[in-house]
Order: sequence, then structure tokens, then C-alpha cells
Amino acid sequence: MHDIAALAAELAGIELATDRALLRQKSRDFYWYSPILKRQLDGKAAELIARPKDEAEVLRVLTACHARRVPVTVRGGGTGNYGQCVPLAGGVLLDMTAMAAPVALMDGIVEVEAGAKMIDLDLWCRERGWELKLWPSTKRTATIGGFVAGGGAGVGGITHGTMRERGNFWGARVATMQDPPRVLDLEGQAANPVNRTYGTTGVLTRIKVPLTPAQDWRDVAIAFDDFVPASRFALELAFCDGIPKKMCGVFDSQLPPFFKGLADAVPQGASLALVMVAPAALGALRELAAEHGGRIVAEQDAVAAERDPETTPFYEYCWNHTTLQVLKKDRGVTYLQCRFPFEDTLKAVEAVRIPFRDEVWMHTECVRFGGRTTMSALPVVRWTTQERLYEIISAFEAAGIGIANPHVLTIEEGSNYRRVPGNQLGFKRMTDPLGLLNPGKMRDFSPLETTA
Ligand SMILES: Cc1cc2nc3c(=O)[nH]c(=O)nc-3n(C[C@H](O)[C@H](O)[C@H](O)COP(=O)(O)OP(=O)(O)OC[C@H]3O[C@@H](n4cnc5c(N)ncnc54)[C@H](O)[C@@H]3O)c2cc1C
Repeated sequence: MHDIAALAAELAGIELATDRALLRQKSRDFYWYSPILKRQLDGKAAELIARPKDEAEVLRVLTACHARRVPVTVRGGGTGNYGQCVPLAGGVLLDMTAMAAPVALMDGIVEVEAGAKMIDLDLWCRERGWELKLWPSTKRTATIGGFVAGGGAGVGGITHGTMRERGNFWGARVATMQDPPRVLDLEGQAANPVNRTYGTTGVLTRIKVPLTPAQDWRDVAIAFDDFVPASRFALELAFCDGIPKKMCGVFDSQLPPFFKGLADAVPQGASLALVMVAPAALGALRELAAEHGGRIVAEQDAVAAERDPETTPFYEYCWNHTTLQVLKKDRGVTYLQCRFPFEDTLKAVEAVRIPFRDEVWMHTECVRFGGRTTMSALPVVRWTTQERLYEIISAFEAAGIGIANPHVLTIEEGSNYRRVPGNQLGFKRMTDPLGLLNPGKMRDFSPLETTA
């Protein structure tokens, strides 16, 4: 492998670690949701962890690694789902969590160091009257750099779309893997090549994201006799321009029993909608729910809930937390990521929910793409074999449903409707010609050379 002792000596003064247990632990993310990725990735580990405290230290690591041809894999909170921060070729794991300070908030745009935890960033913005437009359900552990480089969808999507929408991600400072490394300040569309490219196109040291005025969100849980009225309610809510909202997820009746803090409140056999709305819209929400036969079964202050480690904010049952809530009790499941058509959305959901109901437990989230509203889904899937999983994927695709496959390692194979427009490959050829940044994650890239 690499001469790690010499590299560590060269990086003296930077926080480093070589403890084997820590290397193994920090080289993992939540890839084990996928039995297919688990087989491929178990045992992969970095050889050295470097935890820079500022951009100058990032540049020192990149300079030394470039000279020695040592791969560098960036890590934020390590909550990615597809082995995104698992080093496939050893080398250095660049832990960004010591670079977490807000830099500035001006004209509703916050600039922040990339290793900031999203919950801390959101609270900092809230104290100034603003909040993040979007966050993943892992907000309490994920970093803003990891959300830009690896995630991009989640809570807020019902109103603001995803991080690929123009105006949701404004810019980044990016350290390159060139000789010598450069620092690029990218704004607007020029920043697209670092958006959801898994840290293969540069190390994000700072991020700029536009904000939205803060609201005192309420978490509301609504039970329905069946999945169909719950979904009709959700779609109508999504289209209600008069109701300020942050989230609406719908769960078929198999799922609520796995939601520890809510299971007792949801009648057996009921489907569930979990929503976040502004307090001023609670009356309108109650009316809409009642029109669809829904009964409010639980309600809480969403902002207080996420600050209390003993309480589960409802978004931690939504997005990809649904799968986690089931996995806590049943390790025999996995999941898919889908997007339903904009027209006849519910018809498409039912076209796959009904025939696969024993194996696929439907969970949808209302979301906007390109100004149009639809549902995406992270259904929980009973795992049997890889062949069966791919049969289910094919059946979904045949019904016109987009699949962003979470059982593959590369950006190209996994992104589908989540792919950000822009020339990421051309940008990587410039910023990382030797292919040392998170090697193996951008399928179409081939390095200029691989050895010193
Ligand atoms: C229970 C659960 C629920 C989830 N829910 C959501 C959801 O709602 N929405 C969503 O989008 N995702 C979701 N995810 C996936 C993941 O939590 C998010 O994408 C999260 O934002 C990743 O942030 P992180 O700091 O943990 O990144 P990491 O996992 O550490 O890294 C993710 C990728 O970004 C790269 N990276 C990290 N920091 C930098 C940087 N500074 N510069 C360059 N590259 C960098 C890494 O190399 C890696 O490729 C979920 C995952 C789990 C396990």
C-alpha cells in the first residue's frame, strides 16, 4: 500500500489517527442498508485519518497526497447510503468535522465551513431569523458539505425541490487535487460540478446556501383508514399554495408499527401521513385532513423536538429514516429510491404498491422537481436475492417510475433523476487529473496516470 509513516511525518501538526478500529469505523457509512453493497464494501478502510482545522491544513494534506499518489476520500458525518465515503483504495480519510464555523450571513445567503453539522447551522441561522430551505432526515448528524456532495433531497422538498434546483445551492470554495492544489471560488451554475459528485471533483471547504425565513414548524401525524385517501390528502396538501409546509410523507399500514414514538398512537392497520406545517396553517390542515377522512393522532413542536436528544422529530421517521426505523427491528429488509410521474402520480404508485404489497412497503414523500410537484418514494423492500430486487426495479421502471438505484457505487449508475446537470467529468479532469479523490466513484473517469 502507501508509505503512511512518511506521509504522517510530513503532515506533523495536523490532527491524525492510525488506530485500526477508528480507521475501520470512520471508513464506513450506511452502505449496509444494501446487502449488495455490504458484500462489496465490508472490510474496506483508509490507512490514515487527517482532521484539518482550516483550509491551509486541507491544502497541506492534498499537496502531500498528490506528491505521493495517495488517494484522499472526504468524510463529513459519514451518513451517506451508498458507500460514498468508503475509501476503495485505502489512503487518507479527510475528516472535515473540525471545519464547522459559520462565516457570514448576508442577503439571506449563509456562508459556512463545509464540516458544519446541519442542525447547528440551522440553529445559527434561526437565531438570525432564517432557516435552511432543505435538510436531510439525518440533519442531526450530517454536515452541509456532505449534503451538497452526497445528498441533496429531503425535508423542505415539498416547497423548495432539491439541491439541484437553481437557487438552492449558491456556491462553494473548492480545494483541488492539482500540483500544486488550487482553491476555486465557484458560484451559481459554475458550482454544479461539485454538486452531488461524492467528493470526486474537489474538497469543499466552504459552502454558500440561500435561506428562507424561519418558521415555528409543527409536526403533525394523521391516521387514515387506507393508503389511497392518505395519498390523496398528501398530494392535495402539496398543491395547497396557501399552506406553508416543510414536509409530507405517506406510509402504508405495515410501517407505523416500526415508529417507536408514534406506534401506539396509530390505530392498527391504519396508514399514516406525517407533515410539518406552519402554526398559522394548522386550521387549514385540520380541515383538509378531515375532508379525506384523516384523524390527527399526534402533534408536537418540531423545532423543540429536534433540539431535544430524547425526542424524535417526525422527520426522523421520514425520507431514508423510514428504512432505518424498520432495520432497527428487522434486518431482513432493504429499500429503493423512486420518483413517480408528474401526471397520474397516485395511479403509478398504486400500479406497483398493490402487486408487490407483500414485499414492498410503500412510503412516499411529496417533492417538487423543476417547478412541478410529484411524489418520490423510499419504499422498504423485503430482501431475498439480488435477482429478485432487480426484477422489482424492472417492474417499477416498466410502470414509468424513475429509480435512483441505491445498490451501486458510482455517481453515474446511481443518480438517475438525482443527477445534477453540468460537466462533472470535464471538471474532474481539471481538478483531479490523477484520479486521487475518492477513486472508483465516478465511473466514466480514467486517470492520466496512477503511479508516481
Ligand atoms: C437514516 C438516513 C436517512 C437519510 N436521509 C436522507 C435524506 O433525507 N436526504 C438525503 O439527501 N440524504 C439522506 N441520507 C443520506 C445522507 O445522510 C445525506 O446525504 C447527508 O447529507 C450526508 O452528509 P454527511 O455529512 O453524513 O456526508 P458523508 O456521508 O460523510 O459524505 C457523503 C459524500 O460527500 C462527500 N463529502 C463529504 N464532505 C465533503 C466535502 N467537504 N467536500 C467534498 N466532498 C465531501 C463524501 O466523500 C461522500 O462521497 C440519509 C441517510 C441515512 C443513513
